Order: sequence, then structure tokens, then C-alpha cells
Amino acid sequence: MSILPRRFERIKNVLNCRMQNLTVLVEDVNKPHNLSAILRTCDAAGVFEANFISKKNIVKTFNSTAQGSQKWVNLNTHESPISAISELKQKGFKLYGTSLNNESIDYRNFDYSENTCFVLGAEKWGLSDELRSMVDQSIFIPMRGMVQSLNVSVAASILLFEAIRQRKSKGKLPANGEGLNENEYQKTLFEWSYPELASIYKKSGKTYPKLNEGGEF
Ligand code: SAM
Repeated sequence: MSILPRRFERIKNVLNCRMQNLTVLVEDVNKPHNLSAILRTCDAAGVFEANFISKKNIVKTFNSTAQGSQKWVNLNTHESPISAISELKQKGFKLYGTSLNNESIDYRNFDYSENTCFVLGAEKWGLSDELRSMVDQSIFIPMRGMVQSLNVSVAASILLFEAIRQRKSKGKLPANGEGLNENEYQKTLFEWSYPELASIYKKSGKTYPKLNEGGEF
């Protein structure tokens, strides 16, 4: 089985820049275009997996704003804030909750070059009190306008690209696959290169074959 060499190179170049140690946790954002825009930013920034809490079990949908980025960024769905937070803490993430209250500190005061998760709230209400009480640090992006808040996807972009800026300046931005563990790298390489085959392998419970240098097996 083979893949076009140019396509395989492109897939490898993108995967080589992906990071497991940078993510977002999005709470109950219910407008499809916002979740779509956040995932598109995650793809652009090199986030490997994003997290989403859907308390009402709302099925997530993506519209054209996503530009297909949902295929390239895993979305880990959680049923409750507590399950999301405990999983992320177990993985070693420091959780930065975005809030516009008095306890929040200007986002430019923190170091996002290690395990970082930005926690973003719903369009109308922001973060729930439950989630706000569980994050490690509350941050905000200073604004100078009449409107009280940014669109949630815009806030996500500012924060993720600040993390990228910091990591680049500290030489911590992966470019050769070092942002992913080897198993995850090989598994994702196969799934991105041969998506239809990957689902057949998954259904039958078989492990994926290892790809050679040219993406063939
Ligand atoms: N009334 C809500 C509040 O007080 O949080 C506004 C919610 S805002 C439209 C939706 C989400 O965007 C927020 O929960 C937060 O994640 C993000 N956000 C918007 N403006 C922000 C800012 N200036 N700093 C940090 N996050 C912001």
C-alpha cells in the first residue's frame, strides 16, 4: 500500500510539530462556529489534542469555519468538569482558567513553556464556578474597549500563540516529532496517511502496520 510522497511529507512535517503538552479545555461552548474556530487555531498552533466538556451531552458539530481541522486535532470529550480536571491533572497539566473577575492576573505574567492547559468558558456565562474553583491559576487578557469580553475563539488564539512564542524563544518548540510519544506518533501517522484503512483495522481490533520511510507498508 502506498501514499503520494508529497502528501506523506506534508503529514510528517505537521506531525513533527505537534505537542501533547499544550492543550485547551473548552467548557460547554455551544455555537458550532466557536468550537470549529478553536480547533482550527489548535491545528495551526500544533496542539495534538483538545478537550471539551459537554455537560448536557450535546453532540458536537463542526461547520466550514473548522476547514476540516477536526480531522487533524483529537477532541477528547469529558462528561463533567471534575472528570476533565482530574484527567488533565493526572497528565501533569497546569490549568490556566480564563476569567474576567478580580482574582485573575494578566496572562503575560506566566510561563507556558511546560505542560499547559488553557481553560475556556461558554459564550454567555464564561467558566462555571465549579471549574473556576479547580483551576491552578486564573488569567485574563487585558482589553481597552467598550465590550466586556473577547470572542472565546479569539481568546484561545491569543493564549495559544503566546505559548508558542514563549516555547520558540526557549528552544522548546518541537520540529522533529519530539512533542509526541513514539506510540502516539506512529499511530497518528498511520491514521492520517490511511484514514479509511485505519478505521477497518480499528473495527477488527488489529494493530496498524508500521510504515517505512516512504509511507508504504
Ligand atoms: N460574561 C462572560 C464572563 O464573564 O466570563 C463572558 C464570556 S466570554 C464571551 C467567553 C469566554 O471567552 C470566556 O469564558 C473566556 O474563556 C474567553 N474570554 C473572553 N474574553 C477574555 C479575556 N479578556 N481574557 C481571557 N479570556 C477571555
